[in-house]
Amino acid sequence: MEFKELALTDEVLRAVEEMGFVEATEIQAKSIPLIQTGADVIGKSNTGTGKTAAFGIPAIESISREKNGVEVLILCPTRELAMQACEEIKKFSKYMNWVKPCAVYGGANMERQIMDIKRGANIVVGTPGRVMDHMRRRTLKLQNLKMIILDEADEMLNMGFREDIESILEEVPEERQTILFSATMPPAIMAITNQYQKDPQLIKIDQKYRTVDTIEQYYFEIPSGMKMEAMQYLLLAYEPKASMIFCNTKKMVDDLTEILSSKGFKVAGLHGDMKQSQRSYVMDKFKSGKINVLIATDVAARGIDVSGIDVVFNFDLPQDNEYYIHRIGRTGRAGKSGTAYTLISNRKQIYDLKALSKYIKAEIKEKELPEKTDIVNNKISKVVNKIISSSQQPLRDETEIIFSILTAEGYSAEEIAKFLINLRIGKELRNIPEFEIPKVKKYTSKNTGKLTKAKSAKIEISAGKSNRIAPNFILGALVEATGMPGKSFGKIEIFDKYSTVEVPQADLEFIIDAMDNTKVNGKRVTVKLCERKSAEKSKEKSRFGRTRDHHEGGRRGDSSRRKGGAVKKRKSRG
Ligand code: ADP
Ligand code: MG
Repeated sequence: MEFKELALTDEVLRAVEEMGFVEATEIQAKSIPLIQTGADVIGKSNTGTGKTAAFGIPAIESISREKNGVEVLILCPTRELAMQACEEIKKFSKYMNWVKPCAVYGGANMERQIMDIKRGANIVVGTPGRVMDHMRRRTLKLQNLKMIILDEADEMLNMGFREDIESILEEVPEERQTILFSATMPPAIMAITNQYQKDPQLIKIDQKYRTVDTIEQYYFEIPSGMKMEAMQYLLLAYEPKASMIFCNTKKMVDDLTEILSSKGFKVAGLHGDMKQSQRSYVMDKFKSGKINVLIATDVAARGIDVSGIDVVFNFDLPQDNEYYIHRIGRTGRAGKSGTAYTLISNRKQIYDLKALSKYIKAEIKEKELPEKTDIVNNKISKVVNKIISSSQQPLRDETEIIFSILTAEGYSAEEIAKFLINLRIGKELRNIPEFEIPKVKKYTSKNTGKLTKAKSAKIEISAGKSNRIAPNFILGALVEATGMPGKSFGKIEIFDKYSTVEVPQADLEFIIDAMDNTKVNGKRVTVKLCERKSAEKSKEKSRFGRTRDHHEGGRRGDSSRRKGGAVKKRKSRG
């Protein structure tokens, strides 16, 4: 639906047109008319779907021309988001001089914000903490409030703003419109909705319209401990114009920032421990292109809207599927294409990635890490292309210059060309680091034929009868984690607190690696080589009753005689 088809004032239409918006996004087409009716609304929609306009446009249209004080309050989780939303609202209301938006957030001068409010602000966009501050000081009066909007409500709760939000909702006039936007709907959000909204109308955006569909997604399997090196190769190989790297911890953000900047990359880190002034400084440098790699944690980067990010790297696989969507949503904004690369460093993560891919209903393809020779060749072919394409616009004096070098300096034409190429990319090529990043071994079963006594080993899985585990759960989990056929596994015994499985000796390490830390019937398990003696086991057997053998066809072979210890439990390969 086009903006023209929505019932908007001429002033807004003109502003929106100037911003280059033609088609309304789905959330906009649905929310704007509904909010205009005065209804309370819940909008469930992901990052990058255009929520600011979805609530911002009806909000500015609701502002009266009389001086009634603050009529709309918009709460956002971070200073950046508040500033961003306020800027966008200023653009929408460019031709409505009676609309006066103002942003209030922590870490900035209180007096200036008070001045801004006093100057007749009628839309306040702010973080819950600072809004509370102003309310307490009575520098922000909300007795004429007509509309309150909670933007990224789930994230505000994650950041610990629940109490502030509830106090604010308690204190604003009862007769008001309450709008809530959230990417996820956890119970805490439903509770707020139930308590503070009246007959809310739900707008849910169909997953198939999500921005992730315009993003190419890949993963690399990197031996653990080599991710820093791999990251350097990736930046060198893809040369993204503007990219973000996501890490799970602040520490990792700091470490990676330090390493990459020491290697000459133009990077900066962004995380929650940084002062607001530092964060703005970093964001400004990133937006202006002075740095082109921003390394961030999820919370610090939430909702940041920088256009033109072409690549997102997940240095760490995010702990939550929704985080992955938010992360990769930093690229491919407003229908543009983008690429997301995820570094994976153990089997367990491949398993998680497969689940993630199912969850987002998009393919995440495996890719080979570029090698140094690829990077070099790529750079060379770029230079060759540049030389060839520049041949179309020769300068007048080139021939003269060349002749003077040829004759006066006595160099050959070939030598001159060599110098030029060296001048152009020599330093860059010499700076490409030398790493041996070993290829991760792919699983191919070394086990052929029947599982015999001599060729089998026994693993122990930390879930048993007390976790309501049955042999078929274990077998299912093994097949899923290893990709090996069910017939590769032998006898499965279930004890009270643990279970044991006979597995092919040749694949023992792989199986332990793949299974460790996965879930069996909902329980996260540890997996190791079974080192129990048969005596200890038979004691348990008698205590906890019979064990079951899920394989009817024999293949028994009591390998509990094995002393074990040959294979250490390893967290990851490489
Ligand atoms: P969200 O809050 O859902 O993450 P934003 O409101 O920040 O999304 O919008 C994301 C980007 O898309 C912004 O740069 C915004 O200017 C742009 N945008 C929003 N709506 C449209 C539209 N209808 N057409 C083109 N661009 C849009
Ligand atoms: Mg937003």
